[in-house]
Amino acid sequence: MSSKLQPVRGTHDILPDEFKKFDTVISTARELGTLYGFAEMATPIFEQTEVFSRSMGETSDVVSKEMFTFETRGGESVTLRPEFTAGTARAFISNGMQQNLPLKLFSTGQVFRYERPQKGRQRQFHQVNFELLGDDNWQADVEMILLASNLLSMLSDEEISLHINTLGDVQSREKYRDALVAYLTPLVDKLSEDSQRRLVSNPLRILDSKDKNDKEILVNAPIMTDYLSDAAKQRFEKICAILKDDMLQFSQKIIIDPALVRGLDYYTDTVFEFVANSGELGAQNTVLAGGRYDGLIEQMGGKTTPAIGFASGVERLSLLLADDATDSEQYKVILLPLDGMPANTVFSVSSVLRFNLSEVLPCLNVEILWHGKLSKRLEKAVKNGASYAIIMSPEDEKEGVCIVKNIATREEKKVFFEDLTDDNEIIKIFTPKY
Ligand code: ATP
Ligand code: MG
Repeated sequence: MSSKLQPVRGTHDILPDEFKKFDTVISTARELGTLYGFAEMATPIFEQTEVFSRSMGETSDVVSKEMFTFETRGGESVTLRPEFTAGTARAFISNGMQQNLPLKLFSTGQVFRYERPQKGRQRQFHQVNFELLGDDNWQADVEMILLASNLLSMLSDEEISLHINTLGDVQSREKYRDALVAYLTPLVDKLSEDSQRRLVSNPLRILDSKDKNDKEILVNAPIMTDYLSDAAKQRFEKICAILKDDMLQFSQKIIIDPALVRGLDYYTDTVFEFVANSGELGAQNTVLAGGRYDGLIEQMGGKTTPAIGFASGVERLSLLLADDATDSEQYKVILLPLDGMPANTVFSVSSVLRFNLSEVLPCLNVEILWHGKLSKRLEKAVKNGASYAIIMSPEDEKEGVCIVKNIATREEKKVFFEDLTDDNEIIKIFTPKY
């Protein structure tokens, strides 16, 4: 006996009800992006493995253990994208996009990471992603954080906080790393296994440790802020001050968090995460994350281009969405052709309605119920939430009319087919029930 086919572990089907929320998240992000001057683009869902390993850092969690990497039949190593930034940077370089800076780019789609599946954490998930390339001003950071903040407040009333930190410029980061290693080295035996490994490969990531012992050790560790160059410090202070300014009406609580490092090598200066306080998301409560990556484009072989970006998980955002956030009134019209009614007239009327009436009623759908007793079909139309039923009989057709029945009032009227193609008449016939 064959076993039932199941979705692959860590993947899931998005069924119609869930899809509404999913789509609300993506279209809100897309519309807001347009308001901020972003243009949408799409990169391939897989890239040469090096696109990710070179940019995100060999020692990052994503590259060292989360990538879906495989060899093609031609022997090339490719990887399903685990994020959008590296692919966008690659596309920016391959297509010579450095000609018209600054550039604001929006993308959305599937992302793949081999992680332990749990609530809010899948192996295939979706992101909305925003990148601003070619602008190193502090105002660019503020604008991106404001965009992220707007997106979250448009989608949810949940309490969300912004955690923000600066990693400083490359020199500040190196000085700090040395200080952290000097502090942790004598304590190495007490660190978790992961952190022991990171002490050699990527010490800053230890700050991100969830291990209880590690956290205790870190309480007395040197803090990034003390190692920042004056320029980096002033830049960060300006950003934080303006975000807190009343005139910005920033919706989320702002928490300056010196331990926030983010997992990838390419970040410099501002890094941030928006964290939901609600229990809805459990441990996976970071809904949006990003930062500045001024060195990435050059590191990948392009001309030095400052940039800042962020990504948000669509599934996690959907969990924050209120249940009624996607309830939009549908306006349904059902055609009921009786026996002997020529199918060509029925299809023609259905097309006329779909195209003419939808100009007036944006959430229109027109369906045809061909078979069964009229009374049964009417019952079904009511059950399906139809506003109008159009009863079409061969006798009426000879006179060029059909019967339009208002389901709510039960009122019926004879309507000429030709009136259905007249914009003024059609509005009079189908006035919305609400
Ligand atoms: P986490 O700490 O939760 O692993 P991350 O730092 O790895 O997150 P990013 O690489 O910054 O996440 O990705 C941006 C956003 O994408 C996250 O804030 C989250 O909303 C979402 N995300 C990341 N990994 C997953 C996943 N495995 N499943 C669902 N959503 C995810
Ligand atoms: Mg992760």
